[in-house]
Amino acid sequence: MENPFRYSFNEKRYHTYNYYLKTRYGCKVSKVILDAGFTCPNRDGTKAYGGCIFCSARGSGDSNSYSSDDLLVQYRKNKEIMDGKWPNGLYIPYFQAYTNTYGPLEKIEGMLEPFMKMDEVAEIAIATRCDCLPDETISYLNGLTKIKPIWLEIGLQSSSDKTGEAINRQYSFEDFKDALYRLEKTDIDVCVHVMNGLPQETIEDMLDTIKDISHLPFEGIKIHMLHIIRDTAMAKMHEEKPFNLITREQYIELVVRQLELLRPEVVVERLTGDPLKEDLIEPEWVLNKTTILNDIDKLMRKLDTWQGKSYE
Ligand code: SF4
Repeated sequence: MENPFRYSFNEKRYHTYNYYLKTRYGCKVSKVILDAGFTCPNRDGTKAYGGCIFCSARGSGDSNSYSSDDLLVQYRKNKEIMDGKWPNGLYIPYFQAYTNTYGPLEKIEGMLEPFMKMDEVAEIAIATRCDCLPDETISYLNGLTKIKPIWLEIGLQSSSDKTGEAINRQYSFEDFKDALYRLEKTDIDVCVHVMNGLPQETIEDMLDTIKDISHLPFEGIKIHMLHIIRDTAMAKMHEEKPFNLITREQYIELVVRQLELLRPEVVVERLTGDPLKEDLIEPEWVLNKTTILNDIDKLMRKLDTWQGKSYE
């Protein structure tokens, strides 16, 4: 069967990150995770204490084994793993842990400027919150886009404010939209993070999130399955009163339906989470990423569907 999806050079029926990177750079490009030593207003008491209920003590930067090292040392050590596999590749420093625009502009400048000068750095990715993007910071980051592409990775999880409250997110869908509309006037790219399987959410709620955001100005998306990590508020909640997690089959079908609703131009950076096995409580099936992705591909072929098929 011919693949009708236009942003693909293989069997994939959605706009993969690999497709985006290969067509833009023509070579292997790898993300290098970094912890720049920021915190989060949802942890230090400015907005709340304790953070979003699924977030680990390391601000969702748990895969970085060198987070206490100096930033350039972290970069070198994490990059070494990829250097062996792809000696002529390019890199994307990814400031992953916590909220990397929450702090004085000088700190953000100090974090980024060494990487802006490196030829091997294709672009930069910065994880942050929609309520930590003052105009001054946006203007500075927009200036950097003249040198290299800058991506902001902005958490949303759900477009429902009721869910936002339940997960202690401490910003509203309106706040999120406001940030996206301000960023639309710049050359900064935005990758939105969405999470499936949050407590109290139905499959319809999760589809609504994609419907609610699909027309907004953003360039990429990461869709995660909720995973319960040890020593988080959610782990405690689940221990006291276990809630039903969606099954692997439900997740695969849901993601296919979400992709159908998504604008075809949006780059899909992720369709699975990436928890450390030793920290994961449930669900165990998220550890097998490759088979989940294969089954998503299979179902899309079987249904003869593709990203954006139901996008209006
Ligand atoms: S905004 Fe991000 S870093 Fe802060 S608590 Fe929530 S998930 Fe963790």
